[in-house]
Amino acid sequence: MRGLIFDGQLRLDTSLPIPQYQGDGALLKIRQAGICNTDLELVAGMYNFSGILGHEFVAEVVEGSPTLMGKRVVGEISVVCGQCDFCQRSIPSQCRNRMTVGIRRYPGAFADYLVLPQRNLHIVPDMVSDDQAVFVEPLAAALQVTEGVHISPRDRVIVIGLGKLGMLIAQVLKLTGADVIAVVRREQQARLLQNWGIQTAALEDLEPQRAQVVVEVTGNEDGFAAALNLVESRGTIVLKSTYNGLPQADLTQIAVREIRIVGSRCGPFDAALRLLERGLVDTQPLIEARYPFDEALLAMEHAQIKGALKVLLDF
Ligand SMILES: [Zn+2]
Ligand SMILES: [Zn+2]
Repeated sequence: MRGLIFDGQLRLDTSLPIPQYQGDGALLKIRQAGICNTDLELVAGMYNFSGILGHEFVAEVVEGSPTLMGKRVVGEISVVCGQCDFCQRSIPSQCRNRMTVGIRRYPGAFADYLVLPQRNLHIVPDMVSDDQAVFVEPLAAALQVTEGVHISPRDRVIVIGLGKLGMLIAQVLKLTGADVIAVVRREQQARLLQNWGIQTAALEDLEPQRAQVVVEVTGNEDGFAAALNLVESRGTIVLKSTYNGLPQADLTQIAVREIRIVGSRCGPFDAALRLLERGLVDTQPLIEARYPFDEALLAMEHAQIKGALKVLLDF
């Protein structure tokens, strides 16, 4: 089978063995996959990963239990032990022995086939297209913001970093009825957000310390200091960014102004599917380009363009 491999360099291998499924696993044939910023970070050497990339996908079950056979599915990316204290406490996303599809010690979805435990899979309703389903993983991550912090319609919530993930987070936050402001620099992003009825602003036009919640999704080190400047006393910063370097910020403010910092990672797939099924989140305008999988290297180059939205791989 074909697979996009990173092992210090990026290459498309066309002679990989099809993975074997056993026990509670299912063999998935990938239909479509999406390139995430994490994939770009892996290729930049950030997590010391070696293997097949990719964790955003929609697939068809070709081997597995009869209830799943032939079904379109999406898959949760944490492959967990089920034994450790976190697993026992029903927090599998923090399993002490976890592997992560295409990110940590587990092959990814930029390949013709992938094996996953059946408990990781969610059947995609007929109403949800492949183009929508490929956004379930990042949309679930966006929904995790609302799992980590209580947001009321009275709150002002600022999102900084309106890339692929930020655009989903802004839409999710709008559903809470809060006063959502998206900090944007690019015209394309601003227009899309305004179409969805979401306010946009330039960072320098926002008054400091006026937001109850700031969601930091910039992915660059300056983002944290900017978030700290925008959040009001006793407010919350939800941290979605993973940084390459170490952010510089005045941490004393966190103590003195009693700021809460909430980290946020993967989220609920079932809720993400439901939002897509009900048409509550718009993904179509987030698709920047699509490439046949044979042109995966070109697709990765495209995804690296600053400000690029979602680049899809068609299998
Ligand atoms: Zn991702
Ligand atoms: Zn575990």
